[in-house]
Amino acid sequence: MSSKLQYDVAVIGGGAAGLMAAAIAGKRGRRVVLIEHTAKIGEKIRISGGGRCNFTNLFASPKNYICHNKHFVKSALARYTQHDFIKLVESYDIAYHEKTLGQLFCDGSSKQIINMLLSECEKRQVDVRLNCSVTAIERNDRFVLTTAEGIIDTASVVIATGGLSIPQIGASDFGYKIARQFGIKVLATRPALVPLKVEASTLNMFTKLSGVSQDSLVSYGDMQFRENILFTHRGLSGPAILQISSYLEKFSGEEIIINLLPDVDLKKEFVSYKNSKQSVANFLKNYLPNRFVEAIMTNDFDRSITDLKNSILFDIAEGIHQFKVTISGSEGYQKAEVTIGGVDTDELSSKTMESQKIPGLFFIGEAVDVTGWLGGYNFQWAWSSGYVAGQYC
Ligand SMILES: Cc1cc2nc3c(=O)[nH]c(=O)nc-3n(C[C@H](O)[C@H](O)[C@H](O)COP(=O)(O)OP(=O)(O)OC[C@H]3O[C@@H](n4cnc5c(N)ncnc54)[C@H](O)[C@@H]3O)c2cc1C
Repeated sequence: MSSKLQYDVAVIGGGAAGLMAAAIAGKRGRRVVLIEHTAKIGEKIRISGGGRCNFTNLFASPKNYICHNKHFVKSALARYTQHDFIKLVESYDIAYHEKTLGQLFCDGSSKQIINMLLSECEKRQVDVRLNCSVTAIERNDRFVLTTAEGIIDTASVVIATGGLSIPQIGASDFGYKIARQFGIKVLATRPALVPLKVEASTLNMFTKLSGVSQDSLVSYGDMQFRENILFTHRGLSGPAILQISSYLEKFSGEEIIINLLPDVDLKKEFVSYKNSKQSVANFLKNYLPNRFVEAIMTNDFDRSITDLKNSILFDIAEGIHQFKVTISGSEGYQKAEVTIGGVDTDELSSKTMESQKIPGLFFIGEAVDVTGWLGGYNFQWAWSSGYVAGQYC
């Protein structure tokens, strides 16, 4: 590309949101260029859901999103719902299944979702440019993009460059830089849906438990998630931990409470078995993984239930229903599934995702201060925000 190329729309970022916006804008007859700075399109889609892409959630609704303005997501989610995306998936005969809690995964491979979106772009003659980085964006009456391949002149620009998670596959702060360049506020970012680290004293115990998982109810403030937790060499992971991590603002020094037996009332169980000669340790092994019981053993655990006072038994029960863990940090953007914060939604129209200040400039997907729970919600936000921007850009 040597001379100036003209398009109606330049979508920057060839991930989930960018692919959707490009295809929808193309469907309206707009001439669209989709610019991706890596060699691969939709790389996060490819690695998502263990290679099977948890592409949406049957129960997606505004309450599954974290955003400075909690009403912001309503419009886009209502105008392009999970059922709209499911229809698209079905129209490509992509087989899928519900794994748990409404989470829909491909039966085959996440590449099917990438191919579907690429095919939607191809049908509308979207010009997909890989290995193409944008070094500058200027605005006169139109936008002028300086790219590795030359100058692109366009009426609208859609920023779909995602968040900061997993820099090794292309994440960049480009979207935030462009926002700031145009005087658009960017809210502080932090890793989310991320494994948590614990202090050295706790880590000794957790290292022994590495690999143990347990269906638990994890709480932080008013938020609670019921799913598995996983003990690791660095601290805690597993779906319930990833979910609660999104609500920790500082990480270091914050305390989460884990009910390791949410379906059992251990105090009542101890009372029912008060005459039992079974040791507390053996009794607890009926409910909890052996390694966990061994890791929390005190001298009392070798004694029989009948030998111990109720107050001691109740303290043991309390320790299991209210297992308190002080967090020392997170595993950072290298391991985080998403980024909290980003382009301030107060700066955008919730109907179109267009900047209020800069007509023709749109921000979509994870670059925006909208973060979904684990379970297909983040892709749904990418599809919904991409769709509405595609309708107006
Ligand atoms: C390991 C992992 C698993 C996940 N699994 C799921 C899941 O199963 N379900 C779910 O809902 N969510 C999942 N997520 C989250 C989901 O992948 C993201 O929320 C979603 O991809 C965001 O879409 P996006 O288009 O905004 O950003 P991205 O998909 O990150 O796309 C941004 C694109 O922009 C490109 N880019 C960045 N900077 C530039 C630049 N300067 N110029 C040009 N291009 C640029 C990037 O290379 C990338 O291709 C997962 C995330 C990770 C990391």
